[in-house]
Amino acid sequence: MKRLLLATLLMVPLMSHADPKDDAFALWLEGFQTRAKATGITDETLAVAFKDVTYAPEIIEKDRNQTEFSKPIWEYLNKAVSDDRIRDGAKALEDKEELLEKIEKTYGVDAAVVVAIWSLESANGRVRGDLPVFRSLATLAFDARRADLFSAQLMVALQILQSGEAQLSDMKGSWAGAMGHTQFMPIAFIAYAQDFDADGRRDIWGDDPTDALASTAAYLARHGWKSGEPWGYEVTLPDQFNYETSSEVVKKTQAEWAALGVTRPDGEPLTGSGKASVLLPAGAEGIAFLIFENFHAIESYNTADAYVIAVGHLADRIRGGAAFQGTWPRDERVLTYDEKREMQRLLRDQGFDPGAVDGIMGPNTIQAIRLWQKAQGLPADGFASSRLLDRLRET
Ligand code: CA
Repeated sequence: MKRLLLATLLMVPLMSHADPKDDAFALWLEGFQTRAKATGITDETLAVAFKDVTYAPEIIEKDRNQTEFSKPIWEYLNKAVSDDRIRDGAKALEDKEELLEKIEKTYGVDAAVVVAIWSLESANGRVRGDLPVFRSLATLAFDARRADLFSAQLMVALQILQSGEAQLSDMKGSWAGAMGHTQFMPIAFIAYAQDFDADGRRDIWGDDPTDALASTAAYLARHGWKSGEPWGYEVTLPDQFNYETSSEVVKKTQAEWAALGVTRPDGEPLTGSGKASVLLPAGAEGIAFLIFENFHAIESYNTADAYVIAVGHLADRIRGGAAFQGTWPRDERVLTYDEKREMQRLLRDQGFDPGAVDGIMGPNTIQAIRLWQKAQGLPADGFASSRLLDRLRET
């Protein structure tokens, strides 16, 4: 009977839609369900999870247009570290003081950073996402761009549903299938979610954020968070700074950076133990940061520099820290795909090998830019700006 029901469900899109994409999706979903059954997922779970699941083109649209990657960093930070978010975060830190202190003590992660992630991921729980997770993940798993990643997430989502830890009605989230107060993907949920209120269920979805906030602290702790250390902070670079050392792979102690003339804009001494890198998210014309291991712990949540800086800075501001002193090159803009390829072609034609002309500003392209900048007597920050493209066109 169940088998028949499943077959009927699969036949509906096959017979009733004219769009060949829907047919291909239905066929793919049939194959995926066969693979899921081989791992122990029951017909019953599959019938519940995929009952109303169809291909969702709007999900693919979102996947192609992620704002933290397509906007200049200063536009992203304006929204991510707004006065409203700072105020709401400070209030959350006060209202939930007892819980957050307990979480901080248990996992060794700064409560303000946990609150900052809560703010950026769901506006402190107000926007947890209401898209059906199985529809989003199935669409992304069917799509070729990151099929393996999302197939794995979809398989684990089925395990969560089958385990009874969540009901189908719980499993709502963002377009990417991230769920609850701090937007955990299914694999992160399985690996890191915490039952902090000890009621027998890891509930990251409900109105009470206790489990979700503890889960985020646990996630950061497991990704290398160093208790009591900074994520990073704004620095001022000396006039003669060697911009070739502004790279995540160049790591020095704060004493070594201080000896090279790196200072803090407020004149305070450099702090933090362990090795740090100089990061210039908008090149030599923008704000400079010294970043520590905790930067990379936050990076495990979302790899965009803009996101990590937003989390760290929002946490600092929630604690009453100062706004950035430096300025961004606000007349700059993010290069288009075609402009990035043009830049790579121009570099190659002038004898600076950027690797493949693929529109991706990877290590080879950054290195080619640095060498070209050096040859021109410019600060070798390796940053692909529109000004740089203009200069390349003129030479
Ligand atoms: Ca619980």
